[in-house]
Amino acid sequence: MVIQLELLSVKRLAELLALQRPCVVLTGAGISTESGIPDFRSPGGIWAQYDPLEYATIDAFLEDPVKVWDFYGKRLSFLDAAQPNDGHRALAELEDRGWVRAVITQNIDQLHERAGSRALVEVHGSIRTSSCLACGTVVPFAEVIELLPAPGCPSCGRILKPDVVMFGELLPEAAILRATQLAAEAGVLLVVGSSLEVHPVAGLPLETLAAGGSLAIVNRGSTPFDARAAVTIDGGAGETLRALADALPERP
Ligand SMILES: [Zn+2]
Repeated sequence: MVIQLELLSVKRLAELLALQRPCVVLTGAGISTESGIPDFRSPGGIWAQYDPLEYATIDAFLEDPVKVWDFYGKRLSFLDAAQPNDGHRALAELEDRGWVRAVITQNIDQLHERAGSRALVEVHGSIRTSSCLACGTVVPFAEVIELLPAPGCPSCGRILKPDVVMFGELLPEAAILRATQLAAEAGVLLVVGSSLEVHPVAGLPLETLAAGGSLAIVNRGSTPFDARAAVTIDGGAGETLRALADALPERP
């Protein structure tokens, strides 16, 4: 019975996407848990072992970058080994087929890119590069991995900073502006695997609704926006997005 209700919801979601275009997708940690990457806010998550105040703030980094890299180095090696799942692949496919205009993500894991998504807005940065705060040299992920445990700048020797947004840092302005614009222009903002509790990403559904667009939510557990969503599916990202891709015609 539950399975049938879910399929009905997927069908409704497909109809909504066909009716109100374009679709813009907003993803959070929930889409990557199926790739084995724990949601850092869950009880068994990374912050149960590492106090974020000690390891993930910009102040902690400036004070003791070697210590912070002890944490990031493990995390990077772990993310390097993770693989995109059905959810990432279905979104890349839907972009290819013309159904998805762009993916806005809170994730830093690069799994959307590795699955083939091209129109991607990473509002919390990504592990793709690390930068030198002294001279501005940018070093790609593959080289940073080789320089662990405390990667130094190849030009000046100062310890690099991963290009992810740390607690206490401002979000990248250009990415936030682009995300806000995309949300305002969306016929449907499809939220996947985010509980919509972290600002400013939590403000994006308001942009869509204010401009007359609709909200659809695929998430395990409730969100503060469920009552305002046209469709909510309490299910896994992989199976739901796969079913959505199968339910839509090849092209809009
Ligand atoms: Zn440097």
